[in-house]
Amino acid sequence: MHDAPVMSTQTPSPMSDANRLPPSLWAASAIAGPVCPPLDGDARCDVAVVGAGFTGLTTALAAVEAGASVIVLEASEPGWGASGRNGGQVNAGMKISPSEVVSKFGKEAGDKLNTFVGGSADVVFSLVEKHKIDCEARRGGLLFCVAQKGKLESQRSICIDWAARGAAVRWTDEEETSDLTGAHGYLGAMADMRCGRVQPLSYARGLAHAALKAGARICGNTAATGLSSENGRWKVSTPHGAVFARKVILATNGYSGFHASGLSPKLDRSIIPIASFIIATEPLSDNLRHSILPHGHCTADTRRFLYYTSVDAAGRLVFGGRGLLRDPRDAQDFAHLQAGIAAVFPQAKDVQIAFRWSGRIALTLDKIPHLHEPEPGLLMALGYNGRGVAAGSALGTAIGQYAVTGDASTLPLPVSTLAPIQFHGLRAPFMAAAFSWQRFMDKIVK
Ligand SMILES: Cc1cc2nc3c(=O)[nH]c(=O)nc-3n(C[C@H](O)[C@H](O)[C@H](O)COP(=O)(O)OP(=O)(O)OC[C@H]3O[C@@H](n4cnc5c(N)ncnc54)[C@H](O)[C@@H]3O)c2cc1C
Repeated sequence: MHDAPVMSTQTPSPMSDANRLPPSLWAASAIAGPVCPPLDGDARCDVAVVGAGFTGLTTALAAVEAGASVIVLEASEPGWGASGRNGGQVNAGMKISPSEVVSKFGKEAGDKLNTFVGGSADVVFSLVEKHKIDCEARRGGLLFCVAQKGKLESQRSICIDWAARGAAVRWTDEEETSDLTGAHGYLGAMADMRCGRVQPLSYARGLAHAALKAGARICGNTAATGLSSENGRWKVSTPHGAVFARKVILATNGYSGFHASGLSPKLDRSIIPIASFIIATEPLSDNLRHSILPHGHCTADTRRFLYYTSVDAAGRLVFGGRGLLRDPRDAQDFAHLQAGIAAVFPQAKDVQIAFRWSGRIALTLDKIPHLHEPEPGLLMALGYNGRGVAAGSALGTAIGQYAVTGDASTLPLPVSTLAPIQFHGLRAPFMAAAFSWQRFMDKIVK
């Protein structure tokens, strides 16, 4: 399996404003990214990957390490999407519990998926170690905090569920949760010590450096605009040349259809993209540093409009939550998160906010990531429901290996039919109404 690249001499277009990396704490503090010149003519390879987030980059890395020639097409730069903007929480679970996974897929496939998800944080920390990625990686544990009495039992049963499978989790009561977080109002938590945090943009850039070093080619500022196949070979079109490949992996997640609508309209409508918002404070004072997440945990809570928090290497409180269905327009769109800090960490309510940013996550109706292979040689992986740092890295690694070996038994997730969500266009107004309702319920139901 080896095709040498074919080059030509067309001039690529300059990067548009929409494709520039937006300001964020991560953009301000990340390691430098690699230089990734745009595609400038036709090229051939074994495996073409569209999208340079965690899914695409780990796919590329695994495929090139397994001996394939690999070209990654990224409309902007590595880590530009959710991968360079997220909360950095390396989360070893999904939105549904291990028992629900087994009920849905049956014992064999369910156990396989649970083992995969449970080990997904290991994949991240191993990649960081193997490729010496300088990304503030810290495996300090994640506390899944209960914010409402009505959620205590279900969260505790998820903890028991994972513990029965040998996972490094334990229950912390109200007092211990308060000591570990310094937060106000949590009734208990599942402490998941498999988890941790990274500086996500540095992690993404580190993966890109590793893929390049291993021999992959990454074309930045190169949107894939079309896809066709002929005689067992795929053609991925771009404005300045095409890539011809035996295998194509679409790793565009919440940005499917964002840069170009001609790639796979069915894929674009198979998920619901929504915005997640984050704010980060100025570095906390020593006093506050000792009272907020003093042992290096992250948190995520059970609010319907959940909050997730951590403290970065410079001592800034990073506070995220669901946003709106649209991208934010001004600081006012983040006011609910500032109110969230005042509610969860009242001791930090007056600390200045230094950064506000957002990114798009991809929701699936069954709350499980999706893996599709609608035609031989064409793979798609997306829909992490806001938990894709570990799952995206682990799934990408598995897909990259599968693209080379063809051994489907190594895929952790059943391959599902690519099916657009019914009434996709009507989902946005429906969800906007549901979001307002959820926020209201968070205020009144404790
Ligand atoms: C604000 C926020 C906070 C989050 N917090 C967490 C967290 O703490 N923990 C966690 O586990 N998960 C979190 N997530 C989710 C996580 O970031 C994502 O699940 C994960 O990054 C998805 O990675 P990806 O590679 O699949 O997609 P992305 O990182 O979104 O990458 C997709 C890439 O595809 C490119 N692309 C799209 N179309 C084209 C095209 N036609 N041609 C070329 N390139 C294209 C885009 O430019 C983009 O770079 C969060 C997400 C957001 C937005």
